[in-house]
Amino acid sequence: MQEERRREEGQEIMNTKILKENNEKIVINLTNTNFETANSIRRSCINNVPTMAIEDVHILANNSALYDEILAHRLGMIPLTTDLKTYNKLEDCKCKSAGCARCTAEFVLEAKGPATVYSKDLVPTDPSIKPVFDEMPVVKLFENQEVRLTAKACLNNGTYHTKHSPCNAYYQFYPNIKVLKSKKALDDICPRKVFKNGAVDKDNLLNCNLCNACTDAFPDSVTVEPEENNILLTIESWGQLAPKTIYNTAITNLISDLDEFKKLLK
Ligand code: SF4
Ligand SMILES: [Zn+2]
Repeated sequence: MQEERRREEGQEIMNTKILKENNEKIVINLTNTNFETANSIRRSCINNVPTMAIEDVHILANNSALYDEILAHRLGMIPLTTDLKTYNKLEDCKCKSAGCARCTAEFVLEAKGPATVYSKDLVPTDPSIKPVFDEMPVVKLFENQEVRLTAKACLNNGTYHTKHSPCNAYYQFYPNIKVLKSKKALDDICPRKVFKNGAVDKDNLLNCNLCNACTDAFPDSVTVEPEENNILLTIESWGQLAPKTIYNTAITNLISDLDEFKKLLK
């Protein structure tokens, strides 16, 4: 509805097109926009998309080489798979932040030495919330050493603590490359392998990071211009959420924050 109204009012609508996507990374082409908007989306991806992370650790036994605080901090930094449909943020939950099955996931960890304790040793009560990577070392235990603990994870944003941040996100302008005179030497000068046989290799065009090494070396043969209002946004997930989910949630949360800001201005 909002989009239709804006079209009727003659306002430009940002267009998006997915150029590359896999489980870890997405590259989105944003057109009819500007870098301020792209940067707001980027910041929203990093700071305004909640993920699960361990917040409370109850240590029952720990005679390892690590202090309780360091152990708890390490557990907090382990990325956990996140289910945004089932879990609420603690502050938004009906339990009024007391902690319940709708806002808190629990884990048990029990290990005896000699052994290395890995992230996979955290046993979840909800199988949908578990460490993204199995082999993250937590602590090394020697003979007669043990760790026993319970941990609670909750949903929160990167603004609260960076352990909740779901991704790295960055953008650049779309590269407009024109080869004026074909030159085989371009293949070797470009550190990102954008050229093949002296021409732009279309499959590698998006690798261009606008470094200008080619134009500095061969100013008469090639030009590279950043296309304004044509932006490549890259989102690299840490694994808690799919990259497309991060993008969609970031946009939804950004719009809702702007709506709230608008209401406060009235
Ligand atoms: S600007 Fe840099 S990355 Fe882009 S084509 Fe030229 S040398 Fe390659
Ligand atoms: Zn709750």
